[in-house]
Amino acid sequence: MRPLFLVFALAGTLASSLSAAAPSWQNISTDAGRRIELDRTTLKRTGNVVEILSRVTLERELLDAQTGTPYRIIEATTRYDCATRNAKTIRRVYRQSDKETLREEMVPGVELPVRGGTLDDRVLREVCRPPKGDPLALAKAANEAAGDLQAANAAMIKNAVAADQQAVTKKVADTPEASIRPNLKAQVGASSAPLPISPPSQPASAGSLPVVKAPAGATQYAQRSSGQTRGGKAATRPANSAGYMLEVLPASVSALSGRVAWGYEGAGAPANWAQLDARNVVCASGKRQSPIDIRDGIKVDLEPIRFDYRPSTFRIVDNGHTISVNVGDSRFSLTGKTYELDDIHFHRPAEMLINGQRHEMSIHLVHRSLEGAVAVVALLLERGAEHPEIQTLWNYLPLEKNTPVQPPKVVINPGRLLPESAQYYTFMGSLTTPPCTEGVTWIVMKQPVQVSDEQIRIFSRLYRNNARPVQAANERLIKESR
Ligand SMILES: [Zn+2]
Repeated sequence: MRPLFLVFALAGTLASSLSAAAPSWQNISTDAGRRIELDRTTLKRTGNVVEILSRVTLERELLDAQTGTPYRIIEATTRYDCATRNAKTIRRVYRQSDKETLREEMVPGVELPVRGGTLDDRVLREVCRPPKGDPLALAKAANEAAGDLQAANAAMIKNAVAADQQAVTKKVADTPEASIRPNLKAQVGASSAPLPISPPSQPASAGSLPVVKAPAGATQYAQRSSGQTRGGKAATRPANSAGYMLEVLPASVSALSGRVAWGYEGAGAPANWAQLDARNVVCASGKRQSPIDIRDGIKVDLEPIRFDYRPSTFRIVDNGHTISVNVGDSRFSLTGKTYELDDIHFHRPAEMLINGQRHEMSIHLVHRSLEGAVAVVALLLERGAEHPEIQTLWNYLPLEKNTPVQPPKVVINPGRLLPESAQYYTFMGSLTTPPCTEGVTWIVMKQPVQVSDEQIRIFSRLYRNNARPVQAANERLIKESR
């Protein structure tokens, strides 16, 4: 009798937990490649505070920075304060599909102000809307008016994105510089911040809507524009979006995703790389990104790098991001591993800083081991004597982008690019271009190499600036030859 009873009890528990676990999703918005839904059965209201489970389903997969696995659904339990318009996400679940959970996280952190036009804003307006027949009907009307304005705003941003995109296709450098936010460092933290697209003309700002005076203590539903808080004071953008739940992919981002080419200015600028393609997510979320400002290295006896660079014919191409050169049969070995020289390319100005100092240019010699490990030897270039190997390369600069030149009888010796001194800095980092892959061993030669004024000017004609801004070192261990 007892076992049978247990089975029934278990079945009962299972059935009830199953019904409790199956959310009943209600669609509140579908646009720009994503769907936002709420599960109203989870709604808990305490005064002005509403806690609810919501989810976003993306049209395009994103890669999870922690696991490297794609996901399309983000579920979040978030607490919204209808009075202060603050939100705090408590728990987030990443899913590949309805049935496959990738991972779950409890979100530490504080309440953050909800910016207008974001996914959170959508949810907040939905859950904070007064029930029907509420005496605050006027406020509701104002809220809806704000919603219409929001929709108009979204459509306008979409047009601006399309226009921006055309401009980018035409010529990346044509995109107005004014649209780039200056603080790139802050951008790295705020990976989900909306793209800095300035629409050609601003509509009447949401802040100028007539604000309906609600009775003291009641919720005010007037829509505020993103840059404003209650008192009309400018809101400070949070340093990171850990407290935001759904704001993984703002509308403007999904509109750009996969359609704007990465570059150094305009919509494709470094601050937006992570948002241009799902594969670039680590550009924003990575903790071992490059370049960095090299300082506070520990001085030790570093093993000399055994360069086995040999003279070789070469292939040179202007790939739209830099001048890239391939040679054959060159490698180096370090700590028992051999890395084959894969690609030589140039940056102006140099990407790595040395104690805050920036050099005119740098050369990156990208190597790969048989196992696929990447090691980059970086050379710092300073103004001085003409460099014969670089002159040979410049002599054969291609006339067209993406059209390689391969002179049959001309030879360069990459070994002659290296400085006399064997001293170097070394640390772990990433590729400095999308997809910003980490796990790259960096070797920065300490002694700069000279290039002439004229040689720098020639490169500048092609690439005035192709350096990614400096990234946070995050307590990285840097070793240097003493
Ligand atoms: Zn590079």
